[in-house]
Amino acid sequence: MRLWQAAARDLGEHALALQLDEACPSDLDGRSSWTGRSYDLIQLGRSAQARDELLRAGATPPSGSDLTARDVVLAAACAACGDDGAWHWLLAAAARIDGGAWLAALVGAVADQRGELATADSAWVAARGSGAHGRTARVRAGVAIVASRRRDDPQDVGRLVLDVVGAAIAADLERRPGVAVAIAQGLLERGDVAGARLVLRTTLMLVPSSAEVRAALGAVPARRPVTVVAVATALAAVLIGGLIALTTVVPAPGVRVIGIVAVSLGGALWARRVPLPGMTAAESAVWRDVRGLVWDEQEQRLVPPGNRNGGWYGIAAIAGLAAGTALVAPALAALSALAGSGFAAWADSGSAGFAYLAGAALGTAGGVLLVRWAIRARRRSRARRELSARAQSRAREGASCRCWSDAWLRGWLAEETAAQHLADAQALAVIPGSQVRRCPSTGTLWLVGPLAADGLWLALRGDAPRAAPQPDQQGDGFYL
Ligand SMILES: [Zn+2]
Repeated sequence: MRLWQAAARDLGEHALALQLDEACPSDLDGRSSWTGRSYDLIQLGRSAQARDELLRAGATPPSGSDLTARDVVLAAACAACGDDGAWHWLLAAAARIDGGAWLAALVGAVADQRGELATADSAWVAARGSGAHGRTARVRAGVAIVASRRRDDPQDVGRLVLDVVGAAIAADLERRPGVAVAIAQGLLERGDVAGARLVLRTTLMLVPSSAEVRAALGAVPARRPVTVVAVATALAAVLIGGLIALTTVVPAPGVRVIGIVAVSLGGALWARRVPLPGMTAAESAVWRDVRGLVWDEQEQRLVPPGNRNGGWYGIAAIAGLAAGTALVAPALAALSALAGSGFAAWADSGSAGFAYLAGAALGTAGGVLLVRWAIRARRRSRARRELSARAQSRAREGASCRCWSDAWLRGWLAEETAAQHLADAQALAVIPGSQVRRCPSTGTLWLVGPLAADGLWLALRGDAPRAAPQPDQQGDGFYL
């Protein structure tokens, strides 16, 4: 049971760890258990309760130079409740000892509760860098990194946003956008509307079918870029109107045509380059460049779309153009034979030229549409093959024993291991929604189920039999 709690804590699933505590309170007998429980409470924002429980359990403020985990957690609980002395003591202790992700996440949580934003940001980034697995660490570090971007540097903006969003989606084994949406929410809470919009737009490129991301992007209070286009159009209309009026007074048809083309092109360029409302020029450039990026499964990063199919589109357009133009003459001849001499005379006249234009345009469009259909059909069939290959490889992965190598499993690996490797332990569910399952070779008990705060499957490793097991041992008599 205690191993399950430790695994849940290591995963950053503090509510689950507490739930396990409450399902089996008799386990709370040792000092380390109280420390772990208080750590969970602080991470969940219940620091006053953590402090009171630790003091009731006999914890005393640290004295001397010996540091225990309980000293650190007690100081953290007091600091989160407003004790400045404990806060400075905690920061000094954190600078002195290498507490890894555990300590960095504790300092981050306390700093957040004290409103020390800069300290919290660097602590969460450090926690994530040291391998903190929890959702809070991923979200808070993502918020801190995007918020730290240099807003006038398009490379910095693009790199940080793509890195953070790519990592948020890749770390979720089911590629769900929840963490990225939470990062955007965190940015909005600190008034960073541009950062939130960039994160959501990039997320939408990764998971285009997500209604959650669309809804979040639609809910961001932002002035629409359509204003920019409207202003550009109005300005161009006024300029063109002025030009026409001027060239009516002073006849100069060449100047009129060149002027209209120049103003239209200039307006389009201006609308493309002008900063969007609420964004810097660098952020606007990233916002425009992100459009159309797609996730490359093999390279695990965002890549520009269609770059590998551009050649096919070019060939199809040229072939379509040639075929469309070549078919116009026989078509006109056939129509002349059907419709009589009036049509034949028209078809021979110079005014039939537009038929060639129409044939060329239709042929080009037809070629491009045909290639698009073929590419999509190929992509669909490849996706179906990949899906079935992935299901088979996941089932194979899930069939192997991980009792000696992993303290916890997440996502599809947890679900497949529960289904393919672990057997029913004939034990009561410890908490609702969970199952206890047993490894047929080591006898280890695993707690499995969709237990994560975001509904992801988890498998938490529990106690193993003391003796080294025989491969065929069924672990009879092992019970909770
Ligand atoms: Zn096993």
